[in-house]
Amino acid sequence: ITDFGIEKALKTLGVKDINEGTSTGLNNFSNGEVLESCSPVDGLLIGRVKTTTKKDYENVMDAATKAFKTWRVMPAPQRGEIVRQFGEKLREKKEALGKLVSYEMGKSFQEGLGEVQEMIDICDFAVGLSRQLHGLTMHSERPGHRMYEQYHPLGVVGIISAFNFPVAVWSWNTALAWICGDVCVWKPSEKAPLCGIACQNIVAEVFAKNNLPEGISCLINGDYRVGEMMTKDVRIPLVSATGSTRMGKIVAQEVASRLGKSLLELGGNNAIIVTPDADIKMTVIGAVFGAVGTAGQRCTSTRRLIIHESVYDKVKNAIVDAYKQLRIGNPLDENNHVGPLIDKDAVKMYLNALENVVEEGGNLVIEGGVLNGEGYESGCYVKPAIAEAQPHYKIVQHETFAPVLYLLKYKGGVENAIEIQNNVAQGLSSAIMTNNLREAERFLSVQGSDCGIANVNIGTSGAEIGGAFGGEKETGGGRESGSDAWKVYMRRQTNTINYTTELPLAQGIKFDL
Ligand code: NAD
Repeated sequence: ITDFGIEKALKTLGVKDINEGTSTGLNNFSNGEVLESCSPVDGLLIGRVKTTTKKDYENVMDAATKAFKTWRVMPAPQRGEIVRQFGEKLREKKEALGKLVSYEMGKSFQEGLGEVQEMIDICDFAVGLSRQLHGLTMHSERPGHRMYEQYHPLGVVGIISAFNFPVAVWSWNTALAWICGDVCVWKPSEKAPLCGIACQNIVAEVFAKNNLPEGISCLINGDYRVGEMMTKDVRIPLVSATGSTRMGKIVAQEVASRLGKSLLELGGNNAIIVTPDADIKMTVIGAVFGAVGTAGQRCTSTRRLIIHESVYDKVKNAIVDAYKQLRIGNPLDENNHVGPLIDKDAVKMYLNALENVVEEGGNLVIEGGVLNGEGYESGCYVKPAIAEAQPHYKIVQHETFAPVLYLLKYKGGVENAIEIQNNVAQGLSSAIMTNNLREAERFLSVQGSDCGIANVNIGTSGAEIGGAFGGEKETGGGRESGSDAWKVYMRRQTNTINYTTELPLAQGIKFDL
């Protein structure tokens, strides 16, 4: 294993050579085939995970449904206390977990630490929220009646997560679901299963220390077939799924066919609009980090720059210059800006995108290509590329999950740029760079961006946990994390209480016996 303290991190996190991929807490078992996790950093095998069989899954569901009966009656602030302890444990293990995220997934160590910080932040948020699961009190139209609403937990929440945020997405869901009184079953991406093992090890200790039953936090492992066990399972009222739009369409239909709820966090095709009034220096930093951070594998990565013709050449030249400074290599080495893609399939997709954009008439201003030789043995390192393109190109309309940035030119007013921006199937993140108040407000108005996230003078990528996170259209419409996203993890009940000796009916209806 590459010498960046990985051995020590694996030990701290309890990740072994062969790991049981099914877990209800401290109780780990698995009878399925073995999944290998190789690092895109150096191509070496990090560890193996035994996947979940149908029978293992049934054992998990038994434990989870049983645990729910205990967990749901614990007062929410006490559940918050458990989540607070989980946050503390994450603080202790931050460096080790950040390192594993970086090594197994390929993002920079800094971004790995950032991901763990997000987990800590959502725990803090959830602790406060555990005393604020408010419902409203309404005035009844009937005399001597009281009407109010309350929120109850749903039950077992299924979580399916993507490879690119292998730990944070789970915590956004679990921290909220737990304080709401739900229990969780998590299927991490088959491309980053060890991150799942590490997280489960951390939280299992916390539940055990508090004498709480097995099953409040469960882990299952495997590919889409294991995910399907949850989407088809009527015992799971809510499936929260993060990943590609392709996956989301299947999951949504499967869950809807049994009238379950799904929370979908799917692909983006995020753009920054650069107007004549943009601060060019800020634009370059925002666009370059947005396009090459996590090697372009964030759902909020910047894919398109929509630049006004009057500043087009200036912006293009500044960004091309910045790309020439990028250092590509081992993401655990903090001198590097760009790490590898997740695997060789992702490299193929990246190469296809470059071929397609040229076929459609695009012009590569930074050519890209795969890197070989010392330090690049995994075959997953690629050069970030920039292409001049037209908004309607098929490849520009799709989410290319790699560091490929498309430059698009607009003429006239900001409304033309907004139209280009909105004219894609996805609706996750968007941004405008401008010092012009009218342009900024137009972008945020009802005639503006149609995305779930719309920023002014910030790039598209990176969000804070305090706001609701998610997007519209093919991004799936789900919202996670802050604001009132917690409500999706609960069921709302309206209660009316009559404290008189009469029984007046609603709407003044008379029914005399
Ligand atoms: P993916 O769709 O290939 O896989 C995501 C997860 O879904 C995996 O755990 C996979 O096993 C599971 N899965 C796939 N098919 C399934 C099925 N039929 N039933 C049940 N589960 C199934 O995505 P990926 O390549 O891991 O991640 C990249 C994608 O995720 C990108 O499109 C990115 O934009 C998106 N993403 C979105 C957000 C967001 O919040 N909107 C966040 C992170 C990633």
